[in-house]
Amino acid sequence: MLGDIHANLPALHAVLEHAGECDSWWCVGDVVGYGPFPNECVRAIKKLRAVCVCGNHDLGAVGGMELTNFNVDARIACEWTGEALEDDSKDFLKALPERYAAKTGELIVHGSPRNPVWEYILSTQVAALNFSAFEENICFHGHSHVPAIFSTGKVSEAAVELNSVKDGFGITLEGEKRYLVNVGSVGQPRDGDPRACYAIYDSEGKTLTFHRVEYPINEVQEKMREEEFPSFLIERLALGQ
Ligand code: ZN
Repeated sequence: MLGDIHANLPALHAVLEHAGECDSWWCVGDVVGYGPFPNECVRAIKKLRAVCVCGNHDLGAVGGMELTNFNVDARIACEWTGEALEDDSKDFLKALPERYAAKTGELIVHGSPRNPVWEYILSTQVAALNFSAFEENICFHGHSHVPAIFSTGKVSEAAVELNSVKDGFGITLEGEKRYLVNVGSVGQPRDGDPRACYAIYDSEGKTLTFHRVEYPINEVQEKMREEEFPSFLIERLALGQ
């Protein structure tokens, strides 16, 4: 499970090397935006034949939404990305769906089930409102760049619990419960741990394990400086914020 790669190729490479062979790759969106390697990351996702949904930055970069929705730094990066993207990459991003229902019974969106592109699920209250917006027992999402697992109680969907997720966190998903799983961000983590984040999901055993992987942050920062990205975007990578 990959998400919020944000055109950070060194982070994506590190994650792919760490994960090794997988039967399939699922990506919760925002392949581009913020980072300096958009075409390279699109090509890598295409090569993996990953299932991928669209994020707000993917849409913003190909003119799919008003850039006034973004804050100043995000907008500058979005405009840069729009100019840097090759036609093939644009076609790929434009064709991404907002939701994907997997044959094995999971839903994949970027933000939330009820607002797939924009809504952040950061609290148990917002998670509770979203459990009624999808049918599946498990929904994988991203957008906040903070890995987390929200789960319902066995009896009541209103009793939502939050599991914070650190490196190596593993869980077996229970059949009687329902889950909203934020898979974390490969290319711009915001939970204070700057290492790239991804998760391994076993759809048969219903197990999920999160991993954090070090990558050469300075390589991305150097390229961002060359391209004159806003300094806040350059510095936040080393802070994990
Ligand atoms: Zn994002």
